[in-house]
Amino acid sequence: MSIGSVPLRFKVEIDPERCMKCGRCVENCSYGVFRKESDNIVVANSRACVACHRCLAFCPRDAIDIYEKPTDYRTHPVWTREVREAVFNQAKTGRIIVAGMGNVLPYPSIFDRLVLDACQVTNPSIDPLREPMELRTYIGKKPAALSVKEKPNGDAELLTKLAPNLKLETPIMIGHMSYGAISLNAQTALAKAVTKMGTFLGTGEGGLHESLYPYQDHMIVQVASGRFGVDINYLERGAAIEIKIGQGAKPGIGGHLPGEKVCADVSCTRMIPEGSDAISPAPHHDIYSIEDLKQLVHSLKEATEWKKPVFVKIAAVHNSAAIAAGIARSGADAVVIDGFRGGTGAAPRVFRDHVGIPVEAAVASVDAKLRKQGVRNEVSIIASGGIRQSADIAKIICLGADAVYIGTSALVAMGCRVCGTCNRGTCAWGIATQRPELTKRLDPETNAVQVANLIHAWTDEIAELMGAAGINSIESLRGNRDRLRGYMLDEGLLNVLDVKTVGA
Ligand code: SF4
Ligand code: SF4
Repeated sequence: MSIGSVPLRFKVEIDPERCMKCGRCVENCSYGVFRKESDNIVVANSRACVACHRCLAFCPRDAIDIYEKPTDYRTHPVWTREVREAVFNQAKTGRIIVAGMGNVLPYPSIFDRLVLDACQVTNPSIDPLREPMELRTYIGKKPAALSVKEKPNGDAELLTKLAPNLKLETPIMIGHMSYGAISLNAQTALAKAVTKMGTFLGTGEGGLHESLYPYQDHMIVQVASGRFGVDINYLERGAAIEIKIGQGAKPGIGGHLPGEKVCADVSCTRMIPEGSDAISPAPHHDIYSIEDLKQLVHSLKEATEWKKPVFVKIAAVHNSAAIAAGIARSGADAVVIDGFRGGTGAAPRVFRDHVGIPVEAAVASVDAKLRKQGVRNEVSIIASGGIRQSADIAKIICLGADAVYIGTSALVAMGCRVCGTCNRGTCAWGIATQRPELTKRLDPETNAVQVANLIHAWTDEIAELMGAAGINSIESLRGNRDRLRGYMLDEGLLNVLDVKTVGA
């Protein structure tokens, strides 16, 4: 007997009293939910709805309602709807389930169980509106000591040779989302936003499109296992280079960009044939040890005349601290720790939801290990994967990060509703798609302003949080666990985080 149909996930309704039959929902829905029938607009296929809310956003009469789970399965605490439907799906297809965006399982958030400190009576707070606050952040190696020589005219001459650092006006960067995974209009909006805000954007592993060359001083070029788009021109254009070993949304496996997203322009930028699947292997075939990694770090530095910092990105896993200590000795200038809530264009669902660890625990253990081994100044720590708000940034900096990469939140600032279907290539917001009729919906100018506004607002909020804690420099917040307390966290996790409980 066939498994048959499953209950609707979303039910879409149009209120006929309110609908003016303008047809905007038909035009805007890229999933085929609505249809025009003679003079009427009808819901032709509720089952196709992914709740991307494009129709709601553009209906001028608020005539559309979307209900989640109008019919559900018999309640069961273990055999949830998602578990049952995954079994149905795989019984029918025999295939791995692929999904977009980040982890959807309800693991408790460590960020939400950490609270920040504030000054009261005996230790004065600082008003960021009246006093200077220093949020400028430098990413790269810092010297253990400075050597200076006095010149005959009395000036000091710096003798220590400083390693190249990235100068960030805010500790917020935008992480790597490739052209291919997202549209060129989306990447252009992000590039314009970081340029305006004095920070940086990662190219992802999709190469650097020519139209982004004007923003290259604010771009970090990525070298991943597929080496897509990598040549000397690409390396020389980036402000920094990042070697991607792993990704929080899919630790231990490579990448997969479906052929339907590899249009002519993406194929030129990636240097692969049009329409072919872009598959990055799980490992780099030339890296099997820290010594191998060291060779690649040195090769990239040598190729770019030792002018650019080189980062190494890993997924947050059980032994991140030991791996990061090795990376610090490889000559890399920064280690990027990508937590298990990180987003992705496409990942096997089993990896997205079940593999990896939270970035909070990984960053705290990496910072502690690097300090213990006396190599913390050798590398900066960049945290990514699951940063949703300014408070998360302040908390992860207290746990030891120098700066963060945001991803999903930058997409949300451009209209993304986190519907989780980026892998299908039909994003109605023009973000995770290469279809020209959809990508043209995203105006780079308007969206750059929105993303820059978000970074600006979060930077101001971080300054306010620092001021309330009596801190006027981000340097003094970094690794300052005394400004954090754990709320309803068990002793084991408090030990990993090296944070006291509330009330202590
Ligand atoms: S967008 Fe709203 S008003 Fe226009 S046809 Fe659709 S439901 Fe009716
Ligand atoms: S980028 Fe588009 S497809 Fe992906 S989650 Fe956001 S709205 Fe959905």
